Amino acid sequence: MDINKKCMLCNMKINKNNYNINKMSFLHQNNLDDSMFCPFCGAPSEYIAGPSDNLDIWNMQLDNNTLDILDKAMKLEMFNYEFYREAEKLAQSQNLIYMFNALGNIEFMHAKIHKRLFGHKDLPILHKPNYEKYDSDEKLLKQAWLREEHAIKFYKRYYDNLCNDKLRDIFNVLIGVEQQHMVLTNK
Ligand SMILES: [Zn+2]
Repeated sequence: MDINKKCMLCNMKINKNNYNINKMSFLHQNNLDDSMFCPFCGAPSEYIAGPSDNLDIWNMQLDNNTLDILDKAMKLEMFNYEFYREAEKLAQSQNLIYMFNALGNIEFMHAKIHKRLFGHKDLPILHKPNYEKYDSDEKLLKQAWLREEHAIKFYKRYYDNLCNDKLRDIFNVLIGVEQQHMVLTNK
């Protein structure tokens, strides 16, 4: 089956060659049917559409409180993305290297979604901590799990402060994706 779809949340094009990319970061296998989720950001099937469909969430008028939350969310996702890039280098097990790579790709896409919602031009450059204290796969996994838990708490804490329900829907999507990550890193 030839597919030519787009994720309306992260804007990535999905086709039969990439629909299974990042599979190590999902609990369920992706399918080329109506149940397909986005392999780049984890958005569920409601967000998968034709190449010219769009969500009417971009260029929305946002209040300062919401902008501040999106800025924090972007930084949090970038921080976790950078952790996974380092964890990928430090991990010993090949399976874990693949999984950290996929998890990092997803968090990077989440950072880009927040960037677009906010209207920032660039992603932030963050101070990079030294991750070498995580000197075993066990410690890396524990740290990954804690970061996923922190991300979920963050999204839940600020959920009610967002200025509209479409953003709340997006936060729910992200919470669902990070919950899968918590299961995957709970080893
Ligand atoms: Zn997506």
